[in-house]
Amino acid sequence: MPLTWKIISGNRIYNLVPHSKMNYKHLFGPVNSRRLGTSLGVDLIPFKYCPLNCVYCEVQSTTHLTLERSEYFPITEILTELDAFLSTNPHLDYITFSGAGEPTLYSKIGDIIAFIKTNYPQYKVALLTNSILLHDEELRREILVCDLILPSLDAVSQEAFEKINRPVPGVLSTDIIAGLIALRQEYHGKMLLEVFIVPGINAHDAELILLAEAINAIKPDEVQINSLDRPGTEDWVTAADPDTLKHVKKVFEKLTNSKIEIIAKLKADPKIEVLDKDIVNNIKSILIRRPLTAEDLASTLNLHINEVSKILRQLSSEAKLSISRENRGVFYQWIQ
Ligand code: SF4
Repeated sequence: MPLTWKIISGNRIYNLVPHSKMNYKHLFGPVNSRRLGTSLGVDLIPFKYCPLNCVYCEVQSTTHLTLERSEYFPITEILTELDAFLSTNPHLDYITFSGAGEPTLYSKIGDIIAFIKTNYPQYKVALLTNSILLHDEELRREILVCDLILPSLDAVSQEAFEKINRPVPGVLSTDIIAGLIALRQEYHGKMLLEVFIVPGINAHDAELILLAEAINAIKPDEVQINSLDRPGTEDWVTAADPDTLKHVKKVFEKLTNSKIEIIAKLKADPKIEVLDKDIVNNIKSILIRRPLTAEDLASTLNLHINEVSKILRQLSSEAKLSISRENRGVFYQWIQ
């Protein structure tokens, strides 16, 4: 017998299984996010299914370059995890669709958002997306009830777009911009547009001017300038130096009407509670999705650095822990 029945979106009902002891496969964190505060991550997509293979991707190269929207995992599996965790009434600033793939590839994302909004309306929902599928009217309709959408746009010229984002062949940057403009016209929540600066490709004035024109057409609430903080997929990608970031900010401020921010660094949040009492599993689930330093982990999970360092030392005997030394420190990643 099912434990609970949940109404999803007016006329759809899903049958959830009992969840006394849950091994979370799709939820991670909550993490202390730079932009979202205490954020429960929801990963809807198999590892590295994405329409892009960005040179700066902090996870690793895309293994499945695809535009196909599908129910990659049974929706009841994801809803059961959400129901198990949210029914404990955790403190969260956002429930965020993100992870190691593009969340909008999940064909039932609309039902999952509707589930949260119907059954746990006290929580705000955020979506991180690379914007590729926003030309799809049906997808745009599915995500309209999000409280916050954080789409990306790194380049306008097709040449720079292909160099940075390495899309599925045939994807045009003009279509992405058209999708973003259409979303802005239909969506009344908050939109923060992220522009990732890759020195040598999109930090020169010609590309910045094109980006400023696109920003004026899209009209996001804010533009967030980002740069490499963790190791990217390609070794040649470097972080933009502070002067470059300030220059980008100045150009956008001069040429657009949007608020422009350079994304700030992590700060510890004392309110955070971790999803999994088993800290080791929680660290692994975060390191599967992105490489972090011990300090990043301590800050993200609000743990003492000594505790994190001790766990990383224990895990370092396992072949799955990849360790790399970068300019910003030693980065750890858990390879599946
Ligand atoms: S950065 Fe995001 S959009 Fe780019 S390849 Fe990685 S997961 Fe895909």
